[in-house]
This record gives sequence, structure tokens and C-alpha cells, in this order.
Amino acid sequence: MSLSDQQKQRYLRNTILPEISESGQEKLLRARVLIVGAGGLGSPALLYLAAAGVGNIGVIDDDVVELSNLQRQIIHNEKNLGQKKVASAATKISLLNSDVKLEIFSQRATRESLRKISANYDFILDCTDNFPTRFIINEICHQQKKPLIFAAVKGFLGQVSVFKSYENKNPCYACFNPNIVDETFSLPLSEKGILGSVAGAIGALQATTTIKEILTIEESLVGKILVSDFLKNEFRKVGLKKNSNCVICSV
Ligand SMILES: [Zn+2]
Repeated sequence: MSLSDQQKQRYLRNTILPEISESGQEKLLRARVLIVGAGGLGSPALLYLAAAGVGNIGVIDDDVVELSNLQRQIIHNEKNLGQKKVASAATKISLLNSDVKLEIFSQRATRESLRKISANYDFILDCTDNFPTRFIINEICHQQKKPLIFAAVKGFLGQVSVFKSYENKNPCYACFNPNIVDETFSLPLSEKGILGSVAGAIGALQATTTIKEILTIEESLVGKILVSDFLKNEFRKVGLKKNSNCVICSV
């Protein structure tokens, strides 16, 4: 598959980057990426991945658009109030880039549903806001040997990492956060307050990280976590170690 003249024009600012080039763009168009959650992180991640020409994207979310979402979930607008988030997102993506084949799943991300859906994708983005779902995504990515592109936001804080716990003694998300494996801990992080532009910055970073993983552009965030504090203007990269007692990846 080579790029059409229209695609050469559309993705010119990608392909003139030596790290991408036309062959990288073809790879992006063939890539299969699943986004779990079409909210504060999923909105910018989905928009940027679609704009960049990631050709096959799945989105899973069972929520409807509410007024309190519009402060940060920029893929939705006032006309979408009451609509399913995945339907609202699909409308925007179809207007943005017809190269993208979008598959939408208007259902809850349970262990059962995710296991089935993620089998058809090569990269999984955790854009959720609650710990139980995060642990389920981590478990499935480990079992199915899929790179997990993780991001989280709270207040003015953000985190981004990549987990490939199925190879090279890399850590998984549960290694890094073993104290909250308890699935009863379910207060959504968003209920603690979030600045929309912080979710936007971290979701965009998650999209960049995904593109780098698809194209294997160094440096990868495997085994590291990028921690951002927008109040203090601090960005730190912290190493993560595998937990030899991890219930997910060390058994
Ligand atoms: Zn682990």
C-alpha cells in the first residue's frame, strides 16, 4: 500500500519528519489502536490520532454526553448532550479524516467485553478515570501481549507511561500501583476535579506516545513514567521496576 496523492498532501507535515517519512505514514494508516474511554483523555487522544492518520481506531465507552463533560471533553459539544459519547465522537472523526476506519463500542469496559474487543487491536490506550477498569485493562494487555499506553490526570497533575509487561522483565501497571488493586476503590478520579487543559495536554502526550510506539521511535516510555505537575511547572521522568510479587505479571 502506498500513499495516494491526497494522502501525500494531507500528511506532508508528518512525512517530512525523518522519524516518520512516507513508510511510517503507511504504517500509521495500517495501525490498529483501541481507545478505552471517550472523555477528558480520550477526546484529545482520539482527535490527534485520527488527524495523524492512524487508520483503524476502536473506541469503547458506555456514557452519554453531559453538560459537566464539556469543560474538558473537547470532542463533544452542546449539540451532543444526551447522545452516546461514542456516537458523538464518531461524527467528529468522520468529518475530520475519512481515512480513519472507526469502530465504536457503546458498552461498559468489563473484563469480558474488553478481552473480546482488544483481541482485534495492536495498541490499547487507557483513557479511563477509575481504578477498577485500569486494572482490568492492564491484566488483559499483559495476557494478550499488547502494549498499554497509559495516562492519568487529577487536578493539575498528569502521568503517561507505556507498559509491556509481557517481555524483558518490564513492569505492569499493577507493579507500579500495587496498593490499589482492590477493585472496590472506585471513585472516579475526575470527581476530584480536573482542569480541562491539563487533560488535553496529557491526552495529546498519550497520542504522541502511541505514534512513537507504532513507529518504534526512541525513546520509549516502557519502564518509565512521565509525571507532570502543571501547578509547579515540573516534568519528571521516573523509572519503574517490576514487582517480583505482582499478582498480574509475576505469576
Ligand atoms: Zn506487574
